[in-house]
Amino acid sequence: MSQAGETGTLFVISAPSGAGKTSLVAEMLHADHKLGVSVSHTTRPMREGEKEGVNYHFVSREDFEAMINRGDFLEHADVFGNYYGTSQVWVREMLASGRDVILEIDWQGAVQVRRLIPECVSVFIVPPSAQALEERLVGRGTDLPEVVSRRLKEAREECRHAVEFDYLVVNDEFKEALADLLGIVRTQRLRMGTQHARHRQLLAGLCGEGDNQA
Ligand code: GDP
Ligand code: ADP
Ligand code: 5GP
Repeated sequence: MSQAGETGTLFVISAPSGAGKTSLVAEMLHADHKLGVSVSHTTRPMREGEKEGVNYHFVSREDFEAMINRGDFLEHADVFGNYYGTSQVWVREMLASGRDVILEIDWQGAVQVRRLIPECVSVFIVPPSAQALEERLVGRGTDLPEVVSRRLKEAREECRHAVEFDYLVVNDEFKEALADLLGIVRTQRLRMGTQHARHRQLLAGLCGEGDNQA
């Protein structure tokens, strides 16, 4: 439960496909139990090893379009020819209950979320080189060669938007990148706006509010 006036922080994380954002976010959730990640809806086919409701909510284009028309999405975008979207209700409820929420979304989604929730904190993750990105995408072994080459081509477009983000993390050494991300979350929680709402009573007591000051 949140204390009065306390709302969670929304973290928007984007990266070119294969940079390591899904692996990094999974480890962030292990390390920090106050974080939650939004499970997006998508029309892309399920990869081997993925589970409905865990990695994504897998839906048909028809169902996705019906959800768009109902206003179910906070943001949605066409990425690599598939629809991806973030549930509006889930995110709003989590934030209102004081939880910090991560969105793993593409740059187009990040533009929309920044407009709707300007206080969100956005992070762009890059691989250490274009070659490393290709090796990771091929090494992951989840996508057909033509899908990999399309994602590599689109990585350039995604990276052109890196400067629009608040933070840049280079995922060379995995553990270092993870520490950087956890550091960003921790720093955000220490900001005065957040701390003031959380420690209102402590600050009031230390300032002597309520004391008789004749
Ligand atoms: P991966 O990033 O290589 O694991 O491939 P995915 O198929 O899981 O994701 C492809 C792209 O879609 C990535 O750029 C994601 O950030 C993006 N994406 C995933 N979910 C959402 C969403 O809900 N909204 C938007 N706008 N983009 C999303
Ligand atoms: P994304 O979600 O950004 O597409 P993934 O998390 O699926 O990326 O990572 C792509 C591949 O790269 C995976 O096989 C993952 O294990 C690997 N990977 C992630 N980070 C690193 C790293 N720092 N060094 C080497 N391989 C990595
Ligand atoms: P539904 O099929 O109704 O969209 O969702 C099924 C389950 O997934 C419910 O428990 C619901 O709370 C959860 N859920 C729905 N949308 C999201 C989302 O965007 N993110 C996350 N993390 N969970 C969601």
